[in-house]
Amino acid sequence: MQIINSVQVLAQERERWTGQVGFVPTMGYLHEGHLSLFKQARAENEVVIGSIFVNPTQFGPHEDLTRYPRDLERDLRQLEAVGVDAVFVPSAAEMYPQGFTTYVVPEGPLVEQAEGAVRPGHFRGVATVVLKLFLMVCPQRAYFGQKDAQQVAVIQRMVADLNVPVQLRILPTIREADGLAMSSRNSYLEPAMRSAASTLYRALQAGKTCFQQQMLTKAGSLEGVQQVESAMREMLAQEPLIRLDYAEVRDASSFLPLETLQSPTLLLIAAYMGNTRLIDNFLLRADGTWDEGVIVEDANASRSERERSQWMRK
Ligand code: AMP
Repeated sequence: MQIINSVQVLAQERERWTGQVGFVPTMGYLHEGHLSLFKQARAENEVVIGSIFVNPTQFGPHEDLTRYPRDLERDLRQLEAVGVDAVFVPSAAEMYPQGFTTYVVPEGPLVEQAEGAVRPGHFRGVATVVLKLFLMVCPQRAYFGQKDAQQVAVIQRMVADLNVPVQLRILPTIREADGLAMSSRNSYLEPAMRSAASTLYRALQAGKTCFQQQMLTKAGSLEGVQQVESAMREMLAQEPLIRLDYAEVRDASSFLPLETLQSPTLLLIAAYMGNTRLIDNFLLRADGTWDEGVIVEDANASRSERERSQWMRK
């Protein structure tokens, strides 16, 4: 597996890659969620390229940029095992050299609602880095997780708006055995918080059950939407360690609040556990099927979770 640190070397290597290229951008500290994207890319492409870059422009001034977990050696071992061909690991100076001026700035409700409301500038950083990486790697396919539903919507919009020649592949959220969505930030959670965190998943399940019931009687009504949101909030309120930010039903592509119960739609939750912000969602697709993600009962996944928390304690 090749490790590439500079834009110039990446450009040279790109010339040599033939066939379909699949690309998975990440911020590292990899878990089974990331690896599911790489495995799918491996199955669908001749060449698989990853990137590991903790992108400073998508972090707010008071966010966790400096303490974001990192373990490059372990990440590279995992990518090697999945059969990744090359990993781009640039420095911040390589991506944003002195004089950097040009950003991709998504506008409107999609980036002002939900995560955009609490994290101003976040999606500008995401869109900028993703477009830069797309232009460097020139992949035929790029892989993203449904876990970050609003990021998916922003990137889908950017690719359509700017005619970026890439096929986006959006894959389900991979979950720990108790339903908690895997996230590099889960390593911040102390044991009591870690076990309380699965309440987010249970709240989404409560929301889904209520949604299905309401659809039978109150499809097309605002009251139905409110009932679903209450079902999620009631479940979250039972866990004192959780400080709710939002539990809402929103349109999956515009991210506007839903006024009537309908599909496709998203059940969305964002909550703080201590200083750690967790987000999760269930997607009700247009065909009426739900994407709730995939629970991985696999011992390796729990072992890697243990390793991560041990590493954090060191
Ligand atoms: P990150 O390193 O957090 O920027 O994530 C890199 C990619 O992995 C993004 O497309 C995420 O949506 C995706 N991802 C993160 N967590 C999960 C998960 N639990 N399941 C599936 N994909 C995920």
